[in-house]
Amino acid sequence: MVRPTDKTANNRTPRELNRSLVLDLVEAHGPISRTSLARLSGLTKPTVSAIIEELLESGSVRDVGTESRGGRPARLLEFNEESAAYLGIEIGVEQTAVAVADARGRLRARMEQPSVLRDPHRTVRDIADLLPKVLQLSGVPRKRLRGACAIVPGLIERPSGVCVLAPNLGWERFPLRAELSRALRMPVPVYNLPQAAAVAEGELGAARGHASYAWVYVGLGIGAGLVVDGRLFFGMQGYSGEIGHCRVAEDGPLCGCGRRGCLETFTSVMALRRAAEAASARSRVLAELPSPHAVDAVASAALAGDESARAIFHEAGAQLARGIAVLLNVLNPQLVVLGGELLAAPDVLLGGVREALPKHAVRAGDVPVVASPLGSEAGLLGAVLLAREGAVRSLRLVPDGVLQDATP
Ligand SMILES: [Zn+2]
Repeated sequence: MVRPTDKTANNRTPRELNRSLVLDLVEAHGPISRTSLARLSGLTKPTVSAIIEELLESGSVRDVGTESRGGRPARLLEFNEESAAYLGIEIGVEQTAVAVADARGRLRARMEQPSVLRDPHRTVRDIADLLPKVLQLSGVPRKRLRGACAIVPGLIERPSGVCVLAPNLGWERFPLRAELSRALRMPVPVYNLPQAAAVAEGELGAARGHASYAWVYVGLGIGAGLVVDGRLFFGMQGYSGEIGHCRVAEDGPLCGCGRRGCLETFTSVMALRRAAEAASARSRVLAELPSPHAVDAVASAALAGDESARAIFHEAGAQLARGIAVLLNVLNPQLVVLGGELLAAPDVLLGGVREALPKHAVRAGDVPVVASPLGSEAGLLGAVLLAREGAVRSLRLVPDGVLQDATP
Protein backbone atom coordinates (compact mmCIF):
# COMPACT_ATOMS: atom_id res chain seq x y z
CA MET A 1 0.00 0.00 0.00
CA VAL A 2 0.95 3.64 -0.16
CA ARG A 3 3.17 4.46 2.75
CA PRO A 4 3.54 7.66 4.68
CA THR A 5 7.04 9.04 4.01
CA ASP A 6 8.02 8.99 7.66
CA LYS A 7 7.61 5.22 7.90
CA THR A 8 10.64 4.33 5.85
CA ALA A 9 12.39 1.01 5.67
CA ASN A 10 15.52 2.64 7.08
CA ASN A 11 14.64 1.97 10.68
CA ARG A 12 13.53 -1.62 10.10
CA THR A 13 15.67 -4.69 10.45
CA PRO A 14 15.88 -7.11 7.51
CA ARG A 15 13.98 -9.57 9.69
CA GLU A 16 11.10 -7.11 10.10
CA LEU A 17 11.08 -6.42 6.38
CA ASN A 18 10.95 -10.12 5.55
CA ARG A 19 8.17 -10.70 8.06
CA SER A 20 6.13 -7.87 6.53
CA LEU A 21 6.73 -9.27 3.08
CA VAL A 22 5.62 -12.78 4.02
CA LEU A 23 2.55 -11.48 5.86
CA ASP A 24 1.56 -9.37 2.83
CA LEU A 25 1.92 -12.41 0.58
CA VAL A 26 -0.21 -14.61 2.86
CA GLU A 27 -2.88 -11.89 2.93
CA ALA A 28 -2.85 -11.45 -0.84
CA HIS A 29 -2.49 -15.10 -1.93
CA GLY A 30 -3.68 -17.30 0.95
CA PRO A 31 -4.45 -20.14 1.44
CA ILE A 32 -0.83 -20.69 0.42
CA SER A 33 1.97 -23.15 1.22
CA ARG A 34 5.41 -22.35 2.62
CA THR A 35 6.97 -23.51 -0.66
CA SER A 36 4.87 -21.07 -2.67
CA LEU A 37 5.69 -18.29 -0.20
CA ALA A 38 9.40 -18.98 -0.63
CA ARG A 39 9.03 -18.84 -4.41
CA LEU A 40 7.01 -15.58 -4.38
CA SER A 41 9.19 -13.83 -1.79
CA GLY A 42 12.57 -14.97 -3.05
CA LEU A 43 13.44 -16.01 0.52
CA THR A 44 14.80 -19.43 1.44
CA LYS A 45 12.38 -22.08 2.68
CA PRO A 46 13.94 -22.22 6.21
CA THR A 47 13.63 -18.40 6.49
CA VAL A 48 9.98 -18.55 5.42
CA SER A 49 9.29 -21.42 7.84
CA ALA A 50 10.85 -19.50 10.76
CA ILE A 51 8.77 -16.42 9.95
CA ILE A 52 5.59 -18.51 9.63
CA GLU A 53 6.21 -19.99 13.09
CA GLU A 54 6.33 -16.45 14.52
CA LEU A 55 3.21 -15.40 12.61
CA LEU A 56 1.32 -18.51 13.75
CA GLU A 57 2.33 -17.83 17.33
CA SER A 58 1.18 -14.20 17.16
CA GLY A 59 -2.10 -15.32 15.54
CA SER A 60 -1.57 -13.19 12.41
CA VAL A 61 -1.88 -16.27 10.19
CA ARG A 62 -3.59 -19.60 10.72
CA ASP A 63 -3.13 -23.14 9.47
CA VAL A 64 -6.07 -24.23 7.33
CA GLY A 65 -5.18 -27.84 6.51
CA THR A 66 -3.29 -29.53 3.72
CA GLU A 67 -3.28 -29.64 -0.02
CA SER A 68 -1.70 -32.39 -2.04
CA ARG A 69 -0.97 -31.77 -5.65
CA GLY A 70 0.80 -34.86 -6.87
CA GLY A 71 3.73 -34.73 -4.47
CA ARG A 72 3.86 -34.51 -0.69
CA PRO A 73 0.93 -32.83 1.05
CA ALA A 74 1.66 -29.22 2.02
CA ARG A 75 0.21 -27.30 4.96
CA LEU A 76 -1.72 -24.24 3.83
CA LEU A 77 -1.72 -20.89 5.59
CA GLU A 78 -4.22 -18.10 5.54
CA PHE A 79 -4.35 -14.55 6.87
CA ASN A 80 -6.31 -14.28 10.13
CA GLU A 81 -8.52 -11.19 9.91
CA GLU A 82 -9.56 -11.67 13.55
CA SER A 83 -5.97 -11.26 14.76
CA ALA A 84 -6.12 -7.49 15.03
CA ALA A 85 -8.50 -4.55 14.71
CA TYR A 86 -7.98 -0.92 13.78
CA LEU A 87 -9.77 2.27 14.63
CA GLY A 88 -10.55 4.92 12.03
CA ILE A 89 -11.87 8.35 13.02
CA GLU A 90 -13.22 10.93 10.60
CA ILE A 91 -13.89 14.38 11.98
CA GLY A 92 -16.16 16.14 9.51
CA VAL A 93 -18.01 19.42 9.47
CA GLU A 94 -21.39 17.76 9.76
CA GLN A 95 -20.57 14.61 11.65
CA THR A 96 -17.79 12.76 13.41
CA ALA A 97 -17.52 9.06 12.59
CA VAL A 98 -15.67 6.32 14.47
CA ALA A 99 -15.19 2.94 12.79
CA VAL A 100 -13.65 -0.40 13.69
CA ALA A 101 -12.03 -2.53 10.99
CA ASP A 102 -10.61 -6.04 11.01
CA ALA A 103 -6.99 -6.97 10.31
CA ARG A 104 -7.63 -6.76 6.56
CA GLY A 105 -8.86 -3.19 6.97
CA ARG A 106 -12.50 -4.07 6.26
CA LEU A 107 -15.01 -1.94 8.18
CA ARG A 108 -16.89 -3.98 10.79
CA ALA A 109 -18.90 -1.23 12.46
CA ARG A 110 -19.20 2.54 12.44
CA MET A 111 -21.04 5.10 14.50
CA GLU A 112 -21.53 8.81 13.97
CA GLN A 113 -22.47 11.79 15.98
CA PRO A 114 -23.24 15.36 14.83
CA SER A 115 -20.11 17.53 14.98
CA VAL A 116 -19.93 20.46 17.35
CA LEU A 117 -18.08 23.30 15.63
CA ARG A 118 -15.50 25.56 17.28
CA ASP A 119 -15.05 23.15 20.21
CA PRO A 120 -12.23 20.65 19.51
CA HIS A 121 -12.08 19.51 23.16
CA ARG A 122 -15.74 18.53 22.94
CA THR A 123 -15.04 16.65 19.69
CA VAL A 124 -12.28 14.66 21.40
CA ARG A 125 -14.61 13.81 24.30
CA ASP A 126 -17.34 12.72 21.87
CA ILE A 127 -14.89 10.39 20.11
CA ALA A 128 -13.78 8.88 23.42
CA ASP A 129 -17.46 8.31 24.30
CA LEU A 130 -18.16 6.65 20.93
CA LEU A 131 -15.22 4.24 21.18
CA PRO A 132 -16.71 1.69 23.63
CA LYS A 133 -20.05 1.84 21.81
CA VAL A 134 -18.59 1.13 18.39
CA LEU A 135 -16.38 -1.63 19.82
CA GLN A 136 -19.47 -3.24 21.29
CA LEU A 137 -21.33 -2.93 18.00
CA SER A 138 -18.42 -4.56 16.14
CA GLY A 139 -18.04 -7.38 18.67
CA VAL A 140 -14.28 -6.64 18.82
CA PRO A 141 -12.66 -6.58 22.27
CA ARG A 142 -10.63 -3.44 23.03
CA LYS A 143 -7.46 -5.47 23.55
CA ARG A 144 -7.53 -6.45 19.89
CA LEU A 145 -7.09 -2.81 18.78
CA ARG A 146 -3.57 -2.45 17.35
CA GLY A 147 -3.72 1.02 15.89
CA ALA A 148 -5.80 4.10 15.24
CA CYS A 149 -5.78 7.07 12.89
CA ALA A 150 -7.85 10.24 12.69
CA ILE A 151 -8.56 12.50 9.75
CA VAL A 152 -9.69 16.07 9.78
CA PRO A 153 -10.58 18.65 7.10
CA GLY A 154 -7.72 21.02 7.76
CA LEU A 155 -4.00 21.71 7.77
CA ILE A 156 -2.08 19.23 9.89
CA GLU A 157 1.42 20.20 10.91
CA ARG A 158 3.94 17.38 10.77
CA PRO A 159 5.37 15.76 12.74
CA SER A 160 3.57 17.39 15.70
CA GLY A 161 0.03 16.41 14.64
CA VAL A 162 -1.22 19.88 15.51
CA CYS A 163 -4.27 20.95 13.50
CA VAL A 164 -3.01 24.39 12.53
CA LEU A 165 -6.17 25.51 10.78
CA ALA A 166 -9.53 23.90 9.99
CA PRO A 167 -11.62 26.88 8.84
CA ASN A 168 -14.81 24.87 8.32
CA LEU A 169 -14.58 23.38 11.83
CA GLY A 170 -13.57 26.70 13.39
CA TRP A 171 -10.31 25.23 14.77
CA GLU A 172 -6.97 26.91 15.05
CA ARG A 173 -3.73 25.44 16.45
CA PHE A 174 -5.31 22.51 18.26
CA PRO A 175 -2.92 19.67 19.33
CA LEU A 176 -5.22 16.99 17.91
CA ARG A 177 -2.82 14.06 17.91
CA ALA A 178 -1.77 14.65 21.51
CA GLU A 179 -5.32 15.19 22.79
CA LEU A 180 -6.78 12.17 20.96
CA SER A 181 -3.89 9.92 22.00
CA ARG A 182 -4.42 10.93 25.62
CA ALA A 183 -8.20 10.50 25.53
CA LEU A 184 -8.10 7.11 23.76
CA ARG A 185 -4.98 5.87 25.58
CA MET A 186 -3.25 4.86 22.36
CA PRO A 187 -1.23 6.66 19.67
CA VAL A 188 -3.53 8.39 17.19
CA PRO A 189 -1.68 9.81 14.17
CA VAL A 190 -3.56 12.52 12.30
CA TYR A 191 -3.89 13.15 8.55
CA ASN A 192 -6.14 15.30 6.44
CA LEU A 193 -8.99 13.89 4.37
CA PRO A 194 -7.35 13.95 0.92
CA GLN A 195 -4.18 12.27 2.25
CA ALA A 196 -6.17 9.41 3.79
CA ALA A 197 -8.49 9.12 0.78
CA ALA A 198 -5.46 8.92 -1.52
CA VAL A 199 -4.21 5.92 0.46
CA ALA A 200 -7.61 4.21 0.24
CA GLU A 201 -7.83 4.92 -3.48
CA GLY A 202 -4.44 3.30 -4.05
CA GLU A 203 -5.38 0.21 -2.08
CA LEU A 204 -9.03 -0.27 -2.97
CA GLY A 205 -10.13 2.19 -5.64
CA ALA A 206 -9.30 3.75 -8.98
CA ALA A 207 -5.57 4.23 -8.26
CA ARG A 208 -4.73 0.57 -7.62
CA GLY A 209 -1.44 -0.23 -9.30
CA HIS A 210 -0.49 3.43 -9.74
CA ALA A 211 2.63 4.83 -8.09
CA SER A 212 2.05 8.56 -8.73
CA TYR A 213 -1.37 10.13 -8.57
CA ALA A 214 -3.41 12.87 -6.92
CA TRP A 215 -6.68 12.54 -5.01
CA VAL A 216 -8.60 15.82 -5.06
CA TYR A 217 -11.35 16.62 -2.58
CA VAL A 218 -14.01 18.92 -4.05
CA GLY A 219 -16.54 19.78 -1.40
CA LEU A 220 -16.59 22.35 1.39
CA GLY A 221 -13.07 23.22 0.25
CA ILE A 222 -10.56 21.86 -2.24
CA GLY A 223 -7.40 19.98 -1.36
CA ALA A 224 -5.24 17.26 -2.86
CA GLY A 225 -3.61 14.17 -1.39
CA LEU A 226 -0.45 13.50 -3.36
CA VAL A 227 1.16 10.13 -3.90
CA VAL A 228 4.58 10.34 -5.50
CA ASP A 229 6.51 7.18 -6.36
CA GLY A 230 4.35 5.08 -4.03
CA ARG A 231 4.54 7.37 -1.01
CA LEU A 232 2.33 10.10 0.37
CA PHE A 233 4.02 13.42 -0.24
CA PHE A 234 3.65 15.85 2.66
CA GLY A 235 6.19 18.57 2.01
CA MET A 236 8.24 20.22 4.74
CA GLN A 237 5.48 20.59 7.36
CA GLY A 238 2.62 18.61 5.83
CA TYR A 239 0.94 21.47 3.99
CA SER A 240 1.29 20.09 0.46
CA GLY A 241 -1.66 19.78 -1.92
CA GLU A 242 -3.51 22.95 -0.88
CA ILE A 243 -4.65 23.73 -4.42
CA GLY A 244 -7.91 25.23 -3.13
CA HIS A 245 -5.89 28.31 -2.27
CA CYS A 246 -4.45 28.85 -5.74
CA ARG A 247 -5.46 32.39 -6.57
CA VAL A 248 -7.62 32.42 -9.70
CA ALA A 249 -9.04 35.97 -9.53
CA GLU A 250 -7.42 39.27 -8.61
CA ASP A 251 -10.27 40.45 -6.44
CA GLY A 252 -12.62 37.56 -5.84
CA PRO A 253 -14.68 36.58 -2.78
CA LEU A 254 -13.02 36.34 0.65
CA CYS A 255 -11.69 32.83 1.41
CA GLY A 256 -11.52 30.97 4.74
CA CYS A 257 -7.72 31.38 4.59
CA GLY A 258 -8.09 35.16 4.77
CA ARG A 259 -7.12 35.88 1.15
CA ARG A 260 -9.27 36.83 -1.82
CA GLY A 261 -9.90 35.04 -5.10
CA CYS A 262 -8.86 31.52 -4.05
CA LEU A 263 -10.02 28.62 -6.24
CA GLU A 264 -12.28 27.20 -3.54
CA THR A 265 -14.32 30.41 -3.44
CA PHE A 266 -15.30 29.56 -7.06
CA THR A 267 -15.64 25.76 -6.80
CA SER A 268 -17.02 24.40 -3.53
CA VAL A 269 -20.30 23.63 -1.82
CA MET A 270 -20.76 27.30 -0.87
CA ALA A 271 -19.91 28.55 -4.37
CA LEU A 272 -22.33 26.06 -5.90
CA ARG A 273 -25.10 27.16 -3.57
CA ARG A 274 -24.47 30.79 -4.52
CA ALA A 275 -24.55 29.92 -8.20
CA ALA A 276 -27.80 27.96 -7.78
CA GLU A 277 -29.34 30.90 -5.93
CA ALA A 278 -28.37 33.27 -8.74
CA ALA A 279 -29.60 30.87 -11.44
CA SER A 280 -33.01 30.47 -9.79
CA ALA A 281 -34.19 33.52 -11.73
CA ARG A 282 -33.60 31.61 -14.99
CA SER A 283 -34.61 28.10 -13.96
CA ARG A 284 -38.02 27.13 -12.68
CA VAL A 285 -36.60 23.82 -11.42
CA LEU A 286 -33.96 25.60 -9.32
CA ALA A 287 -36.44 28.25 -8.15
CA GLU A 288 -38.69 25.51 -6.76
CA LEU A 289 -35.91 23.94 -4.67
CA PRO A 290 -35.73 24.89 -0.99
CA SER A 291 -33.19 27.61 -0.22
CA PRO A 292 -30.29 27.44 0.53
CA HIS A 293 -29.89 24.95 -2.27
CA ALA A 294 -28.55 21.52 -1.27
CA VAL A 295 -25.81 20.19 -3.56
CA ASP A 296 -27.64 16.90 -3.97
CA ALA A 297 -30.83 18.66 -5.07
CA VAL A 298 -29.00 20.76 -7.68
CA ALA A 299 -27.20 17.59 -8.82
CA SER A 300 -30.54 15.78 -9.23
CA ALA A 301 -31.79 18.67 -11.35
CA ALA A 302 -28.60 18.51 -13.45
CA LEU A 303 -28.91 14.75 -13.90
CA ALA A 304 -32.57 15.19 -14.89
CA GLY A 305 -31.42 17.53 -17.67
CA ASP A 306 -32.07 21.03 -16.27
CA GLU A 307 -29.75 23.22 -18.35
CA SER A 308 -29.10 25.82 -15.61
CA ALA A 309 -28.17 23.13 -13.08
CA ARG A 310 -25.92 21.42 -15.64
CA ALA A 311 -24.22 24.73 -16.40
CA ILE A 312 -23.47 25.22 -12.69
CA PHE A 313 -21.68 21.86 -12.37
CA HIS A 314 -19.97 22.31 -15.73
CA GLU A 315 -18.63 25.72 -14.68
CA ALA A 316 -17.53 24.31 -11.29
CA GLY A 317 -15.55 21.70 -13.23
CA ALA A 318 -14.06 24.33 -15.53
CA GLN A 319 -12.82 26.34 -12.52
CA LEU A 320 -11.54 23.19 -10.82
CA ALA A 321 -9.45 22.49 -13.91
CA ARG A 322 -7.24 25.46 -12.97
CA GLY A 323 -6.22 23.72 -9.75
CA ILE A 324 -5.84 20.31 -11.35
CA ALA A 325 -3.67 21.91 -14.04
CA VAL A 326 -1.19 22.98 -11.36
CA LEU A 327 -0.93 19.35 -10.21
CA LEU A 328 -0.46 18.10 -13.77
CA ASN A 329 2.16 20.71 -14.62
CA VAL A 330 4.16 20.18 -11.43
CA LEU A 331 3.79 16.45 -10.72
CA ASN A 332 2.95 14.82 -14.06
CA PRO A 333 0.86 12.15 -12.28
CA GLN A 334 -0.48 8.96 -13.89
CA LEU A 335 -4.01 9.70 -12.73
CA VAL A 336 -6.17 12.27 -10.93
CA VAL A 337 -9.08 10.99 -8.82
CA LEU A 338 -11.85 13.32 -7.63
CA GLY A 339 -14.04 12.86 -4.57
CA GLY A 340 -16.26 14.98 -2.35
CA GLU A 341 -19.74 16.47 -2.34
CA LEU A 342 -19.50 18.08 -5.80
CA LEU A 343 -19.14 14.62 -7.33
CA ALA A 344 -22.92 14.30 -6.92
CA ALA A 345 -23.19 14.99 -10.68
CA PRO A 346 -19.87 13.39 -11.67
CA ASP A 347 -20.24 13.31 -15.44
CA VAL A 348 -21.24 16.96 -15.72
CA LEU A 349 -18.45 18.11 -13.38
CA LEU A 350 -15.87 15.93 -15.15
CA GLY A 351 -17.09 17.24 -18.50
CA GLY A 352 -16.27 20.77 -17.34
CA VAL A 353 -12.86 19.69 -16.05
CA ARG A 354 -11.88 17.85 -19.22
CA GLU A 355 -13.01 20.64 -21.51
CA ALA A 356 -11.08 23.33 -19.63
CA LEU A 357 -7.96 21.39 -18.67
CA PRO A 358 -6.06 21.77 -21.96
CA LYS A 359 -6.34 25.57 -21.57
CA HIS A 360 -4.34 25.45 -18.34
CA ALA A 361 -2.04 22.40 -18.48
CA VAL A 362 0.45 21.03 -20.97
CA ARG A 363 -0.18 17.44 -22.13
CA ALA A 364 -3.44 17.43 -20.14
CA GLY A 365 -5.00 14.91 -22.50
CA ASP A 366 -2.55 12.23 -21.41
CA VAL A 367 -3.74 12.13 -17.80
CA PRO A 368 -7.09 10.49 -16.93
CA VAL A 369 -9.27 12.45 -14.49
CA VAL A 370 -11.87 10.16 -12.89
CA ALA A 371 -14.45 10.11 -10.09
CA SER A 372 -13.58 8.06 -7.01
CA PRO A 373 -15.54 4.80 -6.82
CA LEU A 374 -15.19 4.85 -3.01
CA GLY A 375 -17.75 7.61 -2.44
CA SER A 376 -18.06 9.21 0.97
CA GLU A 377 -16.22 6.31 2.68
CA ALA A 378 -12.85 7.07 1.07
CA GLY A 379 -11.56 9.06 4.04
CA LEU A 380 -12.60 6.59 6.71
CA LEU A 381 -11.25 3.62 4.74
CA GLY A 382 -7.97 5.50 4.35
CA ALA A 383 -7.84 6.23 8.08
CA VAL A 384 -8.20 2.53 8.86
CA LEU A 385 -5.51 1.59 6.34
CA LEU A 386 -3.16 4.21 7.78
CA ALA A 387 -3.86 2.89 11.29
CA ARG A 388 -2.95 -0.57 10.06
CA GLU A 389 0.12 0.69 8.24
CA GLY A 390 1.36 2.34 11.40
CA ALA A 391 0.84 -0.85 13.37
CA VAL A 392 2.11 -3.63 11.10
CA ARG A 393 4.56 -1.62 9.02
CA SER A 394 3.75 -3.59 5.94
CA LEU A 395 5.74 -2.96 2.82
CA ARG A 396 4.13 -2.26 -0.46
CA LEU A 397 4.72 -4.55 -3.39
CA VAL A 398 4.66 -2.56 -6.59
CA PRO A 399 2.84 -4.14 -9.53
CA ASP A 400 5.89 -5.65 -11.18
CA GLY A 401 6.64 -7.57 -8.01
CA VAL A 402 9.74 -5.63 -7.01
CA LEU A 403 9.92 -4.76 -3.36
CA GLN A 404 9.86 -1.01 -3.42
CA ASP A 405 12.86 0.83 -2.10
CA ALA A 406 11.62 3.03 0.70
CA THR A 407 14.76 5.14 0.99
CA PRO A 408 13.67 8.79 1.03
ZN1 LIG B 1 -7.86 30.60 0.39
